[in-house]
Amino acid sequence: MGAKVRYYCRVKALTIAVDGYASCGKSTLAKDLASALGYRYIDSGAMYRAVTWYLLEHRLAAEEGPSLQAALDKIVLDFVAKDGSTVLTLNGQEPGLALRSMEVNSMVSPVSALHSVRIAMVERQRAFSTRAGLTMDGRDIGTYVFPEAELKIFMQSRPEIRAARRLAELRKAGELQWTLDEVLTNLRERDTMDSNRDFAPLRRADDAVDLDNSDMNQEEQLAWALDLALARGAVRP
Ligand code: C5P
Repeated sequence: MGAKVRYYCRVKALTIAVDGYASCGKSTLAKDLASALGYRYIDSGAMYRAVTWYLLEHRLAAEEGPSLQAALDKIVLDFVAKDGSTVLTLNGQEPGLALRSMEVNSMVSPVSALHSVRIAMVERQRAFSTRAGLTMDGRDIGTYVFPEAELKIFMQSRPEIRAARRLAELRKAGELQWTLDEVLTNLRERDTMDSNRDFAPLRRADDAVDLDNSDMNQEEQLAWALDLALARGAVRP
């Protein structure tokens, strides 16, 4: 008689990091993955946008100092379920589409490069971690926030496609005055700034899987990512 062998299924709730360049559709993919797997979804870019919006609203300078620290101490960020999706709240308020304005787009990279802003956001992002599974999109999720994430996806897509997406978003936010070229310039500036900052820059993690979704639709990219997640043992919690 052979020894009894016990088989264990490798089933688990993963942490999935989705990083990449501006307007590649990271949020769409991370959100779709979260809903397919029953995981929590966190948009880390919205958090940096919320801090930027707060500084603009309160006419505070985007520079290190006691007033920035006081502002960061006052800012409470959360993600709440609404109409089948998740929205960010700042001190209980919903900034909504204001986070997507060109004014915020133009300021968010310098604000995100500030050391104290990053420290404060990364601490909050890590606190969102849950044993029930998490997808988070951003720039440094796989390299800095969750270096131990079981699945890391690094996204890019052709610049014209990205600019068209962001332009559509701006139009939805009621900003009709911007041209495709202006949006493209903003995306390039943000990518350059995000990639060259000192602390936790935008960088592909060594163990990330690349995805160029230029010629994929939303369903195709989700199917591609779900295959990867399931191969790594993802299950509904
Ligand atoms: O993802 P989204 O385009 O909304 O991010 C807005 C900006 O927030 C980025 O251009 C970047 O400056 C900053 N960001 C960051 N780290 C993250 C997510 C976003 O620095 N993890």
